Amino acid sequence: MHGSRSPAEGSAPTAAPAGGPGEPAISEQAWSDALSLFRKYGDGEGGIVLACHINPDGDALGSMLATGLGLRQLGIPVQASFSNPFRLAQSLTAIAGRELLVPPEEVNARPDLFVTFDTGSVDRLGDLAPLVASAGEVIVVDHHVTNAGFGTRNLIDPKAAATAVVVDDLLRRLGVTVDAEIAECLYVGLSTDTASFRGAATTPSTHELAARLLATGIKPDEISRRLYDARPMRSLHLLADVLARVTLDPAAAGGGGLSWTYVTQDDLARHGLGMEWVEGVVDMLRGAEESTIALVAKQIGPDQWSVSLRSRGPIDVGALCVRLGGGGHRISAGFTGHGPLEGVVAQVVAALAPDPVPVTR
Ligand code: MN
Repeated sequence: MHGSRSPAEGSAPTAAPAGGPGEPAISEQAWSDALSLFRKYGDGEGGIVLACHINPDGDALGSMLATGLGLRQLGIPVQASFSNPFRLAQSLTAIAGRELLVPPEEVNARPDLFVTFDTGSVDRLGDLAPLVASAGEVIVVDHHVTNAGFGTRNLIDPKAAATAVVVDDLLRRLGVTVDAEIAECLYVGLSTDTASFRGAATTPSTHELAARLLATGIKPDEISRRLYDARPMRSLHLLADVLARVTLDPAAAGGGGLSWTYVTQDDLARHGLGMEWVEGVVDMLRGAEESTIALVAKQIGPDQWSVSLRSRGPIDVGALCVRLGGGGHRISAGFTGHGPLEGVVAQVVAALAPDPVPVTR
């Protein structure tokens, strides 16, 4: 669910919630400011561009398309896009609202309003990152605790189980009727980001939202089959290779243990598959009782690794990944590692040590 995180561009490590304890993370002022921008730029003249993070997951894509469909319902035209590689994971190719997608090259480079979804930092926009500077206004819709708020308006709720939860609130405030198509998009976001309602962020309100979405007539079994249970046989062989080399470092993380494995470009080429088929491996490793931290390093270049981390203990991997130039959530985060694999893993082990030695000394 949370892949690589590259260095945040000048962002502080944590977002400051608008209110104190008990107050909503998104203030009424922030909501009304954002709503007035949608109304102001909703005439279609200068254009509204929606974007989500590179290699979109269910929450990024579902949140963006739900908003796009909602604005279309209001008669507001939008372009929705994401960075190259402009290709959806197989599990998302049939999602409602996909007809709104426009390749990044065809997006209005200077829109009046640019809205980002599930994107914790500017670099995660990939090819669309320049629009943050070129757009008239930028609204950031997100739930990553590490999001410093790079928009001119920020709708960020770190407690939300998914960005889709924030979008549901946005659509309600815009006066959009959540029809079956919009509901499907939101359900995809909610289901994937809560690991099928198993995550700690799953609350009564998460299930209440799911209930409202299901009431539109969407079929959870069909959506789940497409999301989780539709894979080519050769992806199982790839999985076998990757799982066969899971390593346990029992001394890491202060004795809590680290389980880790890796996927190379060679592995993918051998099986004729893309990286999407190993996205879930880190969540399998998280199940290992012998370790409190799980790590999967996915090779994205000769000496470049997209590193995903999971925590099943007290360690905040989101904070850890911020120190390593990435970001994410407390139990699920990532960063981009550079250099040989062994060095990247050693870097994480050093960062996990109770009294880490600074690397630069
Ligand atoms: Mn998300």
